[in-house]
Amino acid sequence: MTTTFRNFIAGRWIRPSTGAYHENRNPANIRDLIGRFPDSGPEDVEAAVRSAETGFRIWSRVPAPARGDVLRRVGDLLSERKEMIARAMTREMGKVLTETRGDVQEGIDTAYYAASEGRRLFGHTVPSELRSKWAMSFRRPIGVVGLITPFNFPMAIPTWKMFPALLCGNAVILKPSEDVPHTAHLLVEALLDAGLPPEVIQLVHGSGSKVGKALIEHPAVPVISFTGSTATGAVIGETCGRMHKRLSLEMGGKNAMIVMDDADLDLALDGVLWGAFGTTGQRCTATSRLLLHRKIHDRFLRRLEDAAGKLHLGDGRKDGTEVGPLIHEEARDKVERYVGIGREEGLELVTGGSRPRSPKLRNGWFYRPTIFAGARPGSRLAREEIFGPVLTVLRFSGFEEAVRINNGVPYGLSSALYTRDTNLAFRAMQELDNGITYVNAPTIGAEAHLPFGGVKQTGNGHREGGWEVYEFYSETKVCYVDYSGVLQRAQIDNVDNGG
Ligand code: NDP
Repeated sequence: MTTTFRNFIAGRWIRPSTGAYHENRNPANIRDLIGRFPDSGPEDVEAAVRSAETGFRIWSRVPAPARGDVLRRVGDLLSERKEMIARAMTREMGKVLTETRGDVQEGIDTAYYAASEGRRLFGHTVPSELRSKWAMSFRRPIGVVGLITPFNFPMAIPTWKMFPALLCGNAVILKPSEDVPHTAHLLVEALLDAGLPPEVIQLVHGSGSKVGKALIEHPAVPVISFTGSTATGAVIGETCGRMHKRLSLEMGGKNAMIVMDDADLDLALDGVLWGAFGTTGQRCTATSRLLLHRKIHDRFLRRLEDAAGKLHLGDGRKDGTEVGPLIHEEARDKVERYVGIGREEGLELVTGGSRPRSPKLRNGWFYRPTIFAGARPGSRLAREEIFGPVLTVLRFSGFEEAVRINNGVPYGLSSALYTRDTNLAFRAMQELDNGITYVNAPTIGAEAHLPFGGVKQTGNGHREGGWEVYEFYSETKVCYVDYSGVLQRAQIDNVDNGG
């Protein structure tokens, strides 16, 4: 029996106004049908906004520490349900269980961080320039927040946005990727079970072109947070700019790992395998460029070829699987297109470059971990985001050249440097033009309590995670209290010689 899921709008699980549904299938075995999920339309978004406005009126008056208590209970419930959610997540998007457990853990950590932020949410009290006058700032909730999220971190990314937004006192409408609706359903169940007033959260399933667009264009949704591709982010940015909305964009990456000739090569090898082929390369922070110093280039590449060729592909729920499938057929088609481009550009195919032959993998969107060497900085494979298990290797002669190559792409999310030279490590932190730099660790591995985001075409200046995101989801208000009993004019009466 196929389960038919619903939207959560106005405090109830309800059918979409369109009456339409789409199927959610396991990318490791497309015969495995997870369920039917709503293909909602603008009317559902309209109903969600009306309910969220009610939710905002209720929730914004709840004291921030009490809002934090609800989020702490959400963290407790996610902890209890971690294994169940991780298994559901692997089934619907393919990455291996250890990774989906990590994805849920990120949500748990974000919940506990948000809970403690309920007792901080600092404003500032500063001296006034006038006598007998008080000056301070504090933070206010904004209103209804629209969240649009991608498929690759089905729990972590929605929670990065949702928990700070809720802690700050906003109401939330979530439009998850069509590819991972089940995880979003489980997340909303946890929020409701934790005691969140139901009108405060709305879940509207459906496509970006209908639900996402309606949410972006709705005049009563003043805040939008989006994570996804740079192309989609550009479209959203235009609309939000025209409508003067507050917008956070987290988009694509083309992240480089630089290995110097003095690096610990065993460590670097483990790092690049995890960075390039973890989540089947479908991470915004994936290591998609490997920059090798010419002195270690050939030796390191031979070891990498050998190790990458041995990675075990399969269903992420099975023991021993190291690399799962791609998310869907179009994603695998895109990888195949880029492999064709690599060949046309005359790059050297080191390993991979085809679908696996095993009949056991026939029903999933699998592709072999692939490495191209001999790329130049201008090669398309060295500049464009592929979002799959394809690693492009470039050779360099010195640190300055490596920095130039790293910085010479339109993206700026993360970078990594492997070296034993402390001076170079500190120079890398300064000179690599990215939001995040790792020293002696791969380009992936962000922690929930630090700001996360990138520069250039990866982002628009905001950050997720850590303390900074709370500024995005709240408005700063400034208050002055003059208790002098006389009219004091700022900038005019403030010449005070202490007399
Ligand atoms: P997409 O841009 O295709 O989709 C992201 C979300 O946007 C989905 O929910 C999608 O809906 C929705 N959407 C699509 N078109 C519109 C539209 N016109 N208006 C509103 N919403 C729309 O990205 P993917 O899901 O394929 O995710 C991969 C991308 O995300 C990569 O580029 C990756 O680098 C980036 N990413 C960035 C991160 C970061 O923090 N910098 C983290 C993780 C991923 P639908 O359900 O129809 O797909």
